Amino acid sequence: EIETRMRDGATPMMAQFMAIKERHPDYLLFYRMGDFYELFFDDAVAASEALQITLTKRGHHNGDDIPMCGVPVKAYESYLPKLVDKGFRVALCEQMEDPAEAKKRGSKAVVKREVVRLFTAGTITEDTLLDSRRNNFLAAVAQNRTETGVAWLDISTGAFYTQACPSVMLPAVLARLNPGELLVGDKLLQAPEHFDTFSDFKSILTPQPNSRFDSANAAKRLEKLFAVKTLDAFANFSRAETSAAGALVDYVELTQKGKLPRLEIPKQLAQGATLEVDAATRRNLELTVTLNGQRKGSLLDVIDRTVSGAGARLLSVWLSSPLTNVDDINRRLDGVQFFSEDLGAREDIRQALKKCPDMERALSRITLGRGGPRDLAAIRDGLAASFDLREHLISLTPPPILETCIHDLGNHGQLVDKLRRALGEDLPLMARDGDFIAPGYAPELDELRSLRSESKRLILNLQAKYADLTDIQTLKIKHNNVLGYFVEVTAKQAERMPADGDFIHRQTMKNVIRYSTVELSELEGKISSAADRALALETRLFDELIEDVKQDADVIALAANSLARLDVLSALAQIAVERHYNRPVLSEGYEFDIKGGRHPVVEAALEAANEAAFVANDCDLSQDQRLWLITGPNMAGKSTFLRQNALITILAQMGGFVPAASAHIGVVDRLFSRVGAADDLARGRSTFMVEMVEAAAILNQSSDRSLVILDEIGRGTATFDGLSIAWAVVEHLHELNKCRALFATHYHELTALTSKLDCLSCHSMRVKEWKGEVIFLHEVGAGAADRSYGIHVARLAGLPKAVIKRAEQVLETLEKGEQSSAVTKLADDLPLFAALADKPDPVSEPSGPCDVELALDDIQPDDLSPREALEALYKLKALR
Ligand code: ADP
Repeated sequence: EIETRMRDGATPMMAQFMAIKERHPDYLLFYRMGDFYELFFDDAVAASEALQITLTKRGHHNGDDIPMCGVPVKAYESYLPKLVDKGFRVALCEQMEDPAEAKKRGSKAVVKREVVRLFTAGTITEDTLLDSRRNNFLAAVAQNRTETGVAWLDISTGAFYTQACPSVMLPAVLARLNPGELLVGDKLLQAPEHFDTFSDFKSILTPQPNSRFDSANAAKRLEKLFAVKTLDAFANFSRAETSAAGALVDYVELTQKGKLPRLEIPKQLAQGATLEVDAATRRNLELTVTLNGQRKGSLLDVIDRTVSGAGARLLSVWLSSPLTNVDDINRRLDGVQFFSEDLGAREDIRQALKKCPDMERALSRITLGRGGPRDLAAIRDGLAASFDLREHLISLTPPPILETCIHDLGNHGQLVDKLRRALGEDLPLMARDGDFIAPGYAPELDELRSLRSESKRLILNLQAKYADLTDIQTLKIKHNNVLGYFVEVTAKQAERMPADGDFIHRQTMKNVIRYSTVELSELEGKISSAADRALALETRLFDELIEDVKQDADVIALAANSLARLDVLSALAQIAVERHYNRPVLSEGYEFDIKGGRHPVVEAALEAANEAAFVANDCDLSQDQRLWLITGPNMAGKSTFLRQNALITILAQMGGFVPAASAHIGVVDRLFSRVGAADDLARGRSTFMVEMVEAAAILNQSSDRSLVILDEIGRGTATFDGLSIAWAVVEHLHELNKCRALFATHYHELTALTSKLDCLSCHSMRVKEWKGEVIFLHEVGAGAADRSYGIHVARLAGLPKAVIKRAEQVLETLEKGEQSSAVTKLADDLPLFAALADKPDPVSEPSGPCDVELALDDIQPDDLSPREALEALYKLKALR
């Protein structure tokens, strides 16, 4: 291959580069050259732009300069995240031999190089590249004629899952997983029904040839990996799930160049095991990130009191996938309650957990052959801490969920003991740096080390011994590069040297004579190879320890996971106590009765800003009033109320306490929302279109178990259109979906529906008028609102006074008459701005600025053309 290219005029090195690059077309090729990874051609252009590093050139190809840029080997890890974040994949190509070796084959010979690792968003394991508080899932979707299956794994922890889902649920499932990288077969990518689904994940999508998704091959691969005859031993995987799981394993093997990390046996999540929340709802509710993509300000951020990376990751998973099984939820709640009631236990546990290293990730690096001494120390300390925790917990008579944790923490005394004895104090990052095995662990190593460090003393000892033996007190043992160690005496003294053969003559110089002895060369041999041998021995001992850890990998992972669970449970207790959350009651029924509910994020924000306390509100969606229509002016707190009930449901079903005096919730299977504004404009749909698409999903998919929150449906179009749509949506929800729902609206007309729909109940946000001002009480009361105070809010927002005045007039006219005739009347006889502006309103503006001043306020001299300026002048004059 290389030769063909060389015939085409490429240098041998370039020829090699191109051959390797051709096998990795989708990757930026980091080509090792000495202390740098160099990039060439398009890779160089792309990387220099992405990393803001200088683009240079090196040599020519087909008469053109070859663009090049490079990153130092020592620092490449700091560049990788930037590239991976920007959607690049990187192939790391190493030199596989010493350049000196290559030279021996001839002056033109190229150093052997090979790609040793592929970096992709979903397959990184390095701590430096990973957010310790987030899981990084690699996911795959497979579909055959009848079913869709999803599989996902976290290569850095070994967690591995599958789930079958109906095709329509795929977007929601993917939104829940929020993977770092998503594998999809070429064919499925073309499927029209999933076009939108996958276009949402474009930046993390890795298309795969369909052959990777063959279910028979996948089954074989998994059976081999987990050493079982049939996968049925684990669960009854659907074919689509098997294909997806197989494709994942395949891809991991590919990117890790054959080294498979420890993977758990895939756990199958049942369909419907989690409360499904679609992508738009997740975004709008700001569960794990806010609308602008930050963790800060999200629900997760507000409730997160975990003290370890593993705990933070698990909390994020729990919050993203609340449960639907009442017993499972209650088990978690029992754990939270236990810690919330026992302050001492909670604090002890949290203190202990704080000191725990991230065992999950250390373990995965170890199993991938990328571990170092510090990873072993992490296992040692983590397991030791687990043991202490276990002892502590056992003494407390904890509930079942904690008993499971205790069991999973296990007892790793032997391994901990061995690691304690084996590992020294200051540990290097890499095993090849040596000096990490503790003294006393291996006598042979101690000997080698003392030989190395005490070589001087040993030589001196020997020198003294020879001086005594020969009775030549000035006899010296010296060292040079030619002879190594030798005994030296003056020529004169040489006469007194014993002739019995102990001293072998090596060299006669002008004044001195040099000898060697068998003993000295033995010592020399020992000294010079001691360092090498010490390192080799340490490496062997290291490998042994790594083997020991690998042997126990499954139970270590279980212990690590148990620590994470303890962290989450105690953290949920912590936040509950701090913010006065209470234990919710979950049931199989259809109840939804929240007393004194609060919005966790708004509440925290108000508190942080030292503003008025959050006003708690009840929400009772019992079957006979399961659909609440909520009216009230803007800014009165409608959205907050809608969202808080959704968030309380999510918190309750994930097993946490809730910001409410009490909450009784019949488990919700899916949560739907249509709230928030135009967050989808980026996808090129109009706001109204987005609103309708989401409404369609809700009406088509929500069941009587679902919870639906709708904010201002129909707002994005003409009044009558909007009202008609909202009207029909309410009827549909009430008659067909029969779900529990909160419907906030501007259309007071909808309240008329109460007479027709039995389970519709009207509520409104209370406001108080005081001295012409409107005060929002943020209280939800029974009955419909009488006014919407929109104009009031417009004034607060700073709309020009003239517009406010005009709007008030229009409103008055509209409210008086039949709508259509009123509109005709408005068009016909109400005065326009100029006339209106002529008459300052003495009531509303007794001492306010006069119209000339208002007009002056509206003028921005810098923005005016000469002609506009002239017009403004005339206008001002007319106002005088
Ligand atoms: P709407 O949806 O009716 O326009 P929002 O729900 O957006 O109103 O609320 C507007 C603001 O009022 C919020 O940003 C919040 O600061 C405040 N607010 C809302 N509900 C409450 C409450 N229950 N207690 C205190 N302040 C609230």
